[in-house]
Amino acid sequence: MIMHKRQKFTIINHNEVSVMGRIFYDRGLMIEVDDLNFLFDPRANADFDSANLVLVTHGHRDHISGLLEASEGVRVGASRITHEITRLVREKRERKILENTVYLERNFGLKTDEFSIEAYDAGHCMGSLQFKIDTGEQLIGYTGDINFCESVTERRADVMGCDVLVIEATFGSEEYVFPEREELDAEILDYVERNVSDGIPLILMGYSLGKCQELTRLISRGLGYDVLVSRQIFDFNRIFERYKSGLGKYLQIDSEEGREVIEEGGGVILLPQFRLTKDAPDRLAKSLNLNSLPKIAVCTGWAANRSFFFAMQQAYKIDAAFPLSSHADFNQLLECVSAVEPRQVYTTFGNPVNLAKQIKKRLKINAQPVVNRMQQTLDVYTMNQEPQTTIKTDNQKNEETRM
Ligand SMILES: [Zn+2]
Repeated sequence: MIMHKRQKFTIINHNEVSVMGRIFYDRGLMIEVDDLNFLFDPRANADFDSANLVLVTHGHRDHISGLLEASEGVRVGASRITHEITRLVREKRERKILENTVYLERNFGLKTDEFSIEAYDAGHCMGSLQFKIDTGEQLIGYTGDINFCESVTERRADVMGCDVLVIEATFGSEEYVFPEREELDAEILDYVERNVSDGIPLILMGYSLGKCQELTRLISRGLGYDVLVSRQIFDFNRIFERYKSGLGKYLQIDSEEGREVIEEGGGVILLPQFRLTKDAPDRLAKSLNLNSLPKIAVCTGWAANRSFFFAMQQAYKIDAAFPLSSHADFNQLLECVSAVEPRQVYTTFGNPVNLAKQIKKRLKINAQPVVNRMQQTLDVYTMNQEPQTTIKTDNQKNEETRM
């Protein structure tokens, strides 16, 4: 199955033992094996022409941004849900649907004469997948963003056995260790109940895709309160319910029924965290026509860092922060690598340098950050070579972008 015109590459092989391709970041993660090129999670202006196959792990904006402007003929492998999310965003930009999407799901992969692709749950948000390429000679896995614990909406990421593992490193630093999920869920429910029973308007913030489906179900099922959501969260909740299961009762915040709940001073409001601005309680009280000043709580893995809350309180007057994340924490990343037992690990996003160092030190598995094509030398192209330059991958990336 040839997706696009092939571009020939010379495989650089300084190590006769096991170097069989190259992995690097160039507006998306590129994996080249023999004369096959796989492009994962393309960013804007990604090199679609060189890719035999484009694979998209999930629908967060920083993983699909390249697809938003891509021509409708580009052929992509993604889950039905990720395809649906991409369609939704493209429609808003008046772009046509990507008509050549190959649907991949857990246990439903793709087989050609030259390679096969298997898909595994990533546990990160609805429709999120990890992919494993089988070239017949080696197995190469890419996690995309993963969560390695079960939540009320997603199962824990699958362990995909492979020789070479490319793993995300968003929270690949020792300071990011999250409490047990159930403990955290109970803490959030307790906080919500205390404030709502005191008649205080309450706004919880998190990413629209993933976190807000989790919060919708947690609050509506756990406490039975009306959950009031923004338009974008409403759309994502509907997709979740269409493909997965019910989330409980939620209303669009500007619907007639939603307005009534707000006027009566009830319900819990969920908003994407890009709505956080200076003097957020004042501004949101005005824009949402609330009866009184709301309390704002932010749900993000970054809250595991103690200084996060104080900085956010100072900047935006938030009332609380909970380290509820759609990503694996530091310990879970190590646990995942340990369970996969790869020969070689590559780390990308967030804290790739530290995570690679810790994998080598604690698990005794060879590991290095994925290098950015612009900064690599020929030596670091090869899978088993140490980087010769200071690595700067995509470490400015936030957990997600405006979602
Ligand atoms: Zn993500």
